[in-house]
Amino acid sequence: MTTNTPRTTKHMADSSEADRTPVTVIGLGLMGQALAGAFLRAGHPTTVWNRTAAKAGHLVSRGGRLADSVGDAVAAGQLVVVCVSDYDVVRDLLRPLGTVLDGRVLVNLTSGTTAQARETAEWVARQGGTCLDGAIMATPDGIGTADTVIVHSGPRPVFDLYEPALTSLGAGTTYLGADHGLSSLYEAAVLGLMWGIGNGFLHGAAMLGAAGVDAAAFAPLARKGIETVTAWLPDYARQVDDGSYPVLDATIDTHLAAMENVIHESEFLGVDAELPRFVKALADRAVADGHGGSGYAALIEQFREPSGGPS
Ligand code: NAP
Repeated sequence: MTTNTPRTTKHMADSSEADRTPVTVIGLGLMGQALAGAFLRAGHPTTVWNRTAAKAGHLVSRGGRLADSVGDAVAAGQLVVVCVSDYDVVRDLLRPLGTVLDGRVLVNLTSGTTAQARETAEWVARQGGTCLDGAIMATPDGIGTADTVIVHSGPRPVFDLYEPALTSLGAGTTYLGADHGLSSLYEAAVLGLMWGIGNGFLHGAAMLGAAGVDAAAFAPLARKGIETVTAWLPDYARQVDDGSYPVLDATIDTHLAAMENVIHESEFLGVDAELPRFVKALADRAVADGHGGSGYAALIEQFREPSGGPS
């Protein structure tokens, strides 16, 4: 696996204004419609295909062309973006096409696993095409805006060639490395992070709610807490990469005492205590491994191997 530092595109407007690569978008669900709309906005000749053709109506009224078949759609674009529900659908749509993919670049923005991404890229290569795999770190309303991050992995020269067109979808277009699986892996890592933050907020809101406090009152302080953790990340990352965990704020032993308080408080309020119990179980294991006096980032060692807990 590559250790490339992700490289992010900075100049969305400049690059997209200069680029008129013909593009195809296959899949016009919530995300596919946003992608095709962004290509049209940036002036790309855009061909679309969707199982339910009616979803193309507003794109056609803005200058998009509706293809009769997936094969026609692929043949129309140098750059073919696929964004459907899952990789089974990708396979079912593309496998019957045969040589139509020869010489084309397929950008697969469908969510899936690293194995699916690699296997699809190998299959596309056997048809004479080239694949970039991508993951969208945004919701449809963010597509084409300055804040949107879409990560890509696959052959660097192909990314470089199509970067201006891809940047129409978001200024945060980022190249991760040659391994096609990297985009899916980053997507999984970021989703896990977001669920962690979301669950922490919801558990906190449940505790405060049990005391009659609105979640709206909690939200600004929760945001401050998230900002504090955000500021810790560069040090955590350095410690994780170094494999040494000097204490920056509090030891894991100190955190453990606070975790016990949160469990106790949850139980006292009649709120589910599963989340803080899980967090404490991690810390207990770290202490058993001799990390009671280490900084919090030492918990990485508990994540590196399966614990044998529930799957
Ligand atoms: P969606 O609104 O449910 O759209 C699904 C798309 O897949 C539609 O175009 C649908 O066609 C097509 N499809 C499903 N089954 C099919 C089949 N058997 N044959 C042909 N086409 C089929 O989903 P979405 O929100 O656009 O998401 C698409 C991908 O983007 C997913 O992999 C998702 O994880 C990823 N993504 C989405 C978001 C988001 O916020 N929405 C964010 C990041 C990543 P029909 O219109 O005919 O049903």
